[in-house]
Amino acid sequence: MEQFGTVFCSNISIVRFKDGQWQEPAIEPLAPLPMHPAAHVFHYASSCFEGFKAYRWEDGRAYIFRLQDHVARMRRSAESMRLPVPDTELLAGMVKRLVANQIAEIPLPPSALYLRPTLIGTLENIGAAASPSTEATLFILASPVGDYFEGGSRPLKLLVDDQHARTTAQIGSTKTGGNYASALGPILDAKAKYGVDQVLFCPDGDVQETGAANFLLIGDDEVVTKPLNEMFLHGVTRDSILKLAADLGYKVSERDFTVDELLAAAPTYEATLSGTAACLAPVGCLVYEGKEILVRDGQPGPNTEKLRSALQAIHFGQAPDTHNWLTQV
Ligand SMILES: *Cc1c(COP(=O)(O)O)cnc(C)c1O
Repeated sequence: MEQFGTVFCSNISIVRFKDGQWQEPAIEPLAPLPMHPAAHVFHYASSCFEGFKAYRWEDGRAYIFRLQDHVARMRRSAESMRLPVPDTELLAGMVKRLVANQIAEIPLPPSALYLRPTLIGTLENIGAAASPSTEATLFILASPVGDYFEGGSRPLKLLVDDQHARTTAQIGSTKTGGNYASALGPILDAKAKYGVDQVLFCPDGDVQETGAANFLLIGDDEVVTKPLNEMFLHGVTRDSILKLAADLGYKVSERDFTVDELLAAAPTYEATLSGTAACLAPVGCLVYEGKEILVRDGQPGPNTEKLRSALQAIHFGQAPDTHNWLTQV
């Protein structure tokens, strides 16, 4: 399978907001979007997006994972960017119709269809830095994706960065392009300087998340992660793993922890990133103040594997969907 995010289905779903209302959504062939050079998004970054997956099972049906939660998060992101907020029914309906339309293009598990709703401000006004975009376009890209760990997984190496924040509290929990722009410089510098895969942002020693994934510590009987606040993205994978961990008898500790506590936990706890693309990605090594600290023996741990398998069994239709997370298309 090609690299994640580089292959697209033949159609998108698209709807425009103008004259104070959403127009009729349509499924259209994937093609460049004609845009006015003065469009608000180009100048003032009025945009937000979502990312989630649909799976096709042997029964020939497609199942979208936690659709309502992703729609709700997209609506919160739109609100935070002062963009027109799509109605729940409008957005959920567009996703379902697109998935149904492209069902033949969904590869079987462990592959999936990655869905990327994107909302951009299209108001043609370069003098609107301090006003909202009252026109917008919402489109949904669909992308067949393979197993993230196809060809084997190598545990990740993270720079523990207590110098930079990933973004600001104002938009920390918004899925918006500006947050990735803000994190990009520190990430590229860390890759070049330390050969790491990602940066774990820990401003003032507070362990938060990486550029695009949440961070969890997993012990033999406890899962530890930061409680929700405005500084970081409230991952649906994080939430799913915490619920499954509780089901499996782990103690779920949503609490703040510092870099010192993280380093003290490294010999005994597994560390992992969580997000839709990779599900859980094991962390094998931390770099802090120029020193490398192994997480346990540096290899993927059994508890991470157990929780990932439990979540993927639901994705793939191999375990009952006891939390009603799947929407059948
Ligand atoms: C999307 C994202 C995540 C993961 O969210 P999921 O809902 O689990 O895919 C975590 N952190 C950031 C910054 C993200 O953009």
